[in-house]
Amino acid sequence: MFTTEIGTNIEKASNLLQEGNVVAVPTETVYGLAANALNPAAVAKIFEAKNRPYFNPLIIHLASVNEIEKYAYIDEISMQLANEFMPGPLTLLLNKKNIVPDMVTAGSNKVAIRIPDHPLLIELLHKVNFPLAAPSANAFGYVSPVTSQHVLQGLQGKIPYILDGGKCNVGLESTIVEVNENGETILHRTGGLAIETIEIFLGKPLIRPLQQHNLSPQTSGQLKSHYATTTPLIQGNVTELIQQNSDKKVGIISFKNQYQQVAKQHQFVLSKNGSLTEAAQNLFDVMRHLDTLDYDIILAENFPDEGLGKAINDRLKRAQYTQKD
Ligand code: AMP
Ligand code: MG
Repeated sequence: MFTTEIGTNIEKASNLLQEGNVVAVPTETVYGLAANALNPAAVAKIFEAKNRPYFNPLIIHLASVNEIEKYAYIDEISMQLANEFMPGPLTLLLNKKNIVPDMVTAGSNKVAIRIPDHPLLIELLHKVNFPLAAPSANAFGYVSPVTSQHVLQGLQGKIPYILDGGKCNVGLESTIVEVNENGETILHRTGGLAIETIEIFLGKPLIRPLQQHNLSPQTSGQLKSHYATTTPLIQGNVTELIQQNSDKKVGIISFKNQYQQVAKQHQFVLSKNGSLTEAAQNLFDVMRHLDTLDYDIILAENFPDEGLGKAINDRLKRAQYTQKD
């Protein structure tokens, strides 16, 4: 057991990581729980602290695009994507080089790589001089953390240090893609980089998970139940859901509008201005907040199926399944 400290001391974070410990770190997507990706014993501590199943591979974080080739083989299209969107909320799945331990990739010959867009983390990556494996810094299956307090709520006593970099700018996990041998780009997880933005850059559509064979269905990016609140959550037509749940205490997550049938204090609007970027920033914070209140059920709207709305809908859909598999 640790006394978990929160601070902005990069030196301290760096020392802990070099000694083979885990440290929670800020990124632009969500807070990550980081360890030296090249040290399997350190990486094992991530799985222990999070209670994450070992079959679930981790994303490795690098300081710059130039470093990718130390850890993976990169094709031309992936390189173009890297140059265009990194640093940023995009993860590339690439064929790994031997230097990456199996513990990181759960035995797969592919490794997921990302360049985070957060000045504190980039400074830390330069200082430690090794890649950081980092999943979200929460207990496995729960809503991802977007502030240092969220990390503390889930992992207090289990980790020594949380590097505080403020609230995450994007608020959703990264978008994960892979370029296959045919030069097609497969979407593994929707996330903080809008699908349309990638498609415009590539000049063609991404191949959606549903069209593709059953690739790694066991990874958390694809688990049916994930990002889930403890209070049951239902997504759908909120007007109808309010009627159907009239005997219950309900909390509401909506995009920009409120519902007259329910008192205002039970309604959480993610973006009054109707910005999906702002809604994404607020989503996990609001889900966590609602979960601390005494509701029987959380009702969530269907968000517009465009831009970051797709990723918001994906997270809400999976938050509906309470049975963790
Ligand atoms: P997170 O749980 O947010 O850290 O995201 C990690 C997710 O990235 C995993 O659950 C997978 O969906 C995906 N991922 C990471 N590494 C791999 C890999 N080697 N092969 C396939 N998917 C991966
Ligand atoms: Mg996670």
